[in-house]
Amino acid sequence: MTNKNLLIVEDESAIAEMLVESLTQAGYSPVHTGTAGEARTALATQRFELALIDWMLPGSSGLELVRNIRADENLRDIAVIMITARTSEHDITTGLDAGADDYITKPFSPRELQSRIRALLRRTLNYASDQPLTNGALSLHPQTHRVSVNDQTIELNHTEFKLLRHFMINPDRVYSRAQLLDSVWGTDTYIEERTVDVQILRLRKALRSANLDDVIETVRGAGYRLLKA
Ligand code: CA
Repeated sequence: MTNKNLLIVEDESAIAEMLVESLTQAGYSPVHTGTAGEARTALATQRFELALIDWMLPGSSGLELVRNIRADENLRDIAVIMITARTSEHDITTGLDAGADDYITKPFSPRELQSRIRALLRRTLNYASDQPLTNGALSLHPQTHRVSVNDQTIELNHTEFKLLRHFMINPDRVYSRAQLLDSVWGTDTYIEERTVDVQILRLRKALRSANLDDVIETVRGAGYRLLKA
């Protein structure tokens, strides 16, 4: 169950060694690369369940690598955790927008990282069903990552897509911010609840192009829900 292939992209050898050692001990099969270029080669030749990507890499950045992964049809199901020394909300949002599922800030303990990895892989398995979802004119296709209203495609980033998918699995159900963080971002993340508000705003903005921005309703004092059509 735990012998998952993990890709580690980290240029600092001390951190990379610590990661390889602790993840091997935890029963994973980690592969280490020191640059985005080497990571691309590894990704093209081997299947990985999860990638741990350092933001600051020599040459092409980790952020750029995350964007490449999400733009590649063959790779977009890989779970991605960004390793970052950056903690500002803007930087975190940038990382999540690029398609990272979670992030961890240096310095971190191997235990903390392992709990993030476990949570993320658990969530990835929960979302293994590829059934298309519909709500009125809105439809979402997990296999192609396409969201459309009638025939108009709605452009969503990775997090917005997952958030909408979560709402569409249980329309009309109200989710608190904490529940959304738990289900969409993962139980062991330390993302602040207002990140949920930011992503909801972005999701609504994307849906506005199809006049569907009111489909995600704010339930005062409780959270958010998707109105069943
Ligand atoms: Ca680095």
